[in-house]
Amino acid sequence: MSDCLFCRIISGEIPSAKVYEDALTYAFRDINPMMPVHVLVVPKQHLASVAAADEATDEVLAGCLRTCAKVAAQEGLTGGFRVVSNCGDDACQSVQHLHFHVLGGGKMTDRMG
Ligand code: 5GP
Ligand code: ZN
Repeated sequence: MSDCLFCRIISGEIPSAKVYEDALTYAFRDINPMMPVHVLVVPKQHLASVAAADEATDEVLAGCLRTCAKVAAQEGLTGGFRVVSNCGDDACQSVQHLHFHVLGGGKMTDRMG
């Protein structure tokens, strides 16, 4: 997927601020942070969004959530954090490679939409 921004970030072709990496996932700082901590967790396998979950193994999907938890611990988000995955136009997904926003480091509003 050479035309996919996050595939190019995962391969190192485009630089990123890496936070964590394992065999199945990669985590890096969002270029336009919405919170003091704003990390993107992505599977190394190209998947368009949560809607394509059936194209991935349970190991890959669970690996993404495990990496979200590891990132939150590594970043010291003891007060809590939010995990968000925008899927499709209504949710304003702007990069078509599955990603989970890990947000924290301050109090968030209770509005989700
Ligand atoms: P979405 O809107 O699809 O849920 O989230 C895409 C996220 O990717 C946005 O928060 C945006 O700031 C981030 N982003 C877009 N391009 C880049 C980039 O080149 N590098 C990094 N680190 N983040 C990016
Ligand atoms: Zn991709």
